[in-house]
Amino acid sequence: DKDRRIATIASTIRVIPDFPKPGILFQDITTLLLDVKAFKDTIDLFVERYKDKDISVVADWLDISGSDDILLKRNPVFIAGYPVPTALTSPCLGVAFAFSIEARGFIFGPPIALAIGAKFVPIRKPKKLPGEVISEEYSLEYGSDIMEMHIGAVQPRERALVIDDLIATGGTLAAAIRLLERVGAEVVECACVIELPELQGRKRLGDKPLFILVSAV
Ligand code: AMP
Repeated sequence: DKDRRIATIASTIRVIPDFPKPGILFQDITTLLLDVKAFKDTIDLFVERYKDKDISVVADWLDISGSDDILLKRNPVFIAGYPVPTALTSPCLGVAFAFSIEARGFIFGPPIALAIGAKFVPIRKPKKLPGEVISEEYSLEYGSDIMEMHIGAVQPRERALVIDDLIATGGTLAAAIRLLERVGAEVVECACVIELPELQGRKRLGDKPLFILVSAV
């Protein structure tokens, strides 16, 4: 049943070549969102994995306007092919909070947070959050970018689950892990709907387990 749900999810992800610039094979999850069952199954698969794990917060990077920019800067590599289902399982330890990032990450973060009874914390590009923030700089293909989180949103020793729609180079997730660890949180696992395995983003996560639903090879 799980594999069947994952196969359906994979089939709803539209792949658009040369967006937002030539050479990028864009994994478009808006078509997944149009399929009510696939969207629900996506949330359910994460919720099934992370419920009853003492998760207390979901954080999310809310910045739609910034995403194309990030995408442009970080994806010089052409990934050929289409999403295929995978059954990757990494050990899920007890989790005290979930965290998700980026423009499309925030689509998945809030429903997961609500379903598992966790709080929600936005991670944003600079100058978007009104309160006092902690910032983390991270390198892109050309130059660097910054993500910010409200100070006090996450408490020391809270256990974190980092969620994003897609892992490419892993730079975004790696920066989010650093940001959370700087405030004393423990990142237990990262979870994405899609992985682009050829970019080997997993390697940038160090010893953090990565859970994904679809591998785009
Ligand atoms: P990275 O930091 O390189 O792992 O990039 C991950 C972020 O960039 C995610 O938040 C994705 O939304 C976005 N992204 C990168 N590559 C793609 C792609 N081929 N299709 C769709 N989104 C992508």
